[in-house]
Amino acid sequence: MRRLVFSSGDYRDRQPTRFRRKNGTKMALTTEDTRQDSTPPCFHLLAKPSGSTCNIDCTYCFFLSKEALYPNEKNRMSDATLEAYIRQLLESHRTPTVTVAWQGGEPTLMKLDFFRRSVELVEKYRRPEQIVQHTFQTNGILLDDEWCAFFKEHNFLVGLSVDGPRELHDTYRLDRAQQGTFDKVMKGWRHLRQHGVEFNILCTVNAANEKHGRTVYRFFRDEMGAQWVQFIPIIERATEQTIDIANLGWSEQPNRKRLLYTQDGNLVTKRSVGGEQYGRFLVDIFEEWVRHDVGRVYVQLFDVTLEAYFGRHLLCIHAPTCGYGPALEYNGDLYSCDHFVEPRYLLGNIHETKLLKLVSSPAQRKFGDDKRDSLTAQCQRCEVRGLCNGGCPKDRFTLSSDGDPGQNYLCAGLYLFFTHTRPAMQTMARLLESGRAPSDVMALTVAEDERRGPYQPCPCGSGRKFRFCHGDRAPDSPFSGVSPATVVTKDGRVTSVPSQLPLRASSDGAHGGAQ
Ligand code: SF4
Ligand code: SF4
Repeated sequence: MRRLVFSSGDYRDRQPTRFRRKNGTKMALTTEDTRQDSTPPCFHLLAKPSGSTCNIDCTYCFFLSKEALYPNEKNRMSDATLEAYIRQLLESHRTPTVTVAWQGGEPTLMKLDFFRRSVELVEKYRRPEQIVQHTFQTNGILLDDEWCAFFKEHNFLVGLSVDGPRELHDTYRLDRAQQGTFDKVMKGWRHLRQHGVEFNILCTVNAANEKHGRTVYRFFRDEMGAQWVQFIPIIERATEQTIDIANLGWSEQPNRKRLLYTQDGNLVTKRSVGGEQYGRFLVDIFEEWVRHDVGRVYVQLFDVTLEAYFGRHLLCIHAPTCGYGPALEYNGDLYSCDHFVEPRYLLGNIHETKLLKLVSSPAQRKFGDDKRDSLTAQCQRCEVRGLCNGGCPKDRFTLSSDGDPGQNYLCAGLYLFFTHTRPAMQTMARLLESGRAPSDVMALTVAEDERRGPYQPCPCGSGRKFRFCHGDRAPDSPFSGVSPATVVTKDGRVTSVPSQLPLRASSDGAHGGAQ
């Protein structure tokens, strides 16, 4: 699953370069926005040219079930829809920068000529002053030299879906034969590296990897050379009637009726991340990052949280309102959000109503404003509300401490993350305000570690002594030695594949990070 990445307004032109938005990121209107009318100056649309069709079969990917919305159709975007989309997208933007974001399903199923045509159309309809950024979220399976040469030539930003080292990745990211996809994804990653394509990692946080935050993060940083990482919690909702079917997964099975996933029910599947555990996963990574990687590795939630200390909300999930990230299906149908591709959130079709009119419609504004207007009393009085804003509405299906419905399933984890990171974030904010690099927080953190001593409880809250947790004697992970450059053949042989490029992330900060 990708979604990224990482889908709201793209305000990158107003952001400091360190917050350059990566693929799949859902950017939000900032509190500084000064629109006079309901027409947004820009937005971040996720286009699904092959609908929800995918070439693999991840167990947790409820997006697969969305094929049921368009039964009996070959889900492929026509040239007429592609042209209408690109033209209307470019016409709609009043900001100099426009993002053309391709998502799936799996967009490589559209073949390369489709995207060559999209680039041609961008050049045809782009106003001279418009700068267009192409982004592409993929599972990486079909990436080869031809794809990667194309990405490089047109400066595409590629999001690659990886859930960690092999054992963790292969738990749920399976192909149609129910085999793990790790080796195939790493083959695609090597092509990206060989061609020097800019990429970021989109990692879901699920029941398999939720207790391995640092392991997952170190794998991306040290083995894959990733400088941009984004974490997405897996929360698959279900009702008492659907939970048994949902637990089996979302792909089409013989003799089993496919269930269309909708945002209903207050149960979750066994693959879903635990609410509090999501926060522990993030804290585990933060404690590593704040000692070693500030300014070198961009972790989306960390950067947007720091921006929130200045009152700027760059991620829809933690912005007061949302609704600037619609999703476009292959046939021109536009939905309120990629997470709400279901009949009740269909805004219309761009062949019948202009894209900008749909994005500015009262229905879509209400969708976005409801995020703020439906906050529970618990959220309204929460000490970290200004940073969290209740999280994404799709996850608000539990009871609050007052017994009110509509509390975020992740609340315990979000509260843990925002309170735990507050001292370091405040330090970084003060450093920025005084004209210093936020990366200076690393030396301050290490000095604090030394003052506290190695045998005190680790500040991450694990209960272990610091030295054996986030200190210098942290034990190797059970997954250490699992390298993407290692391929296990079908007969069980292990072969090393030398990478063409250095694996360690560069430390020059050229791509930003929080500094
Ligand atoms: S519903 Fe959630 S993911 Fe969609 S735009 Fe709103 S906050 Fe973002
Ligand atoms: S931490 Fe929980 S109570 Fe606080 S704003 Fe977020 S969801 Fe609401």
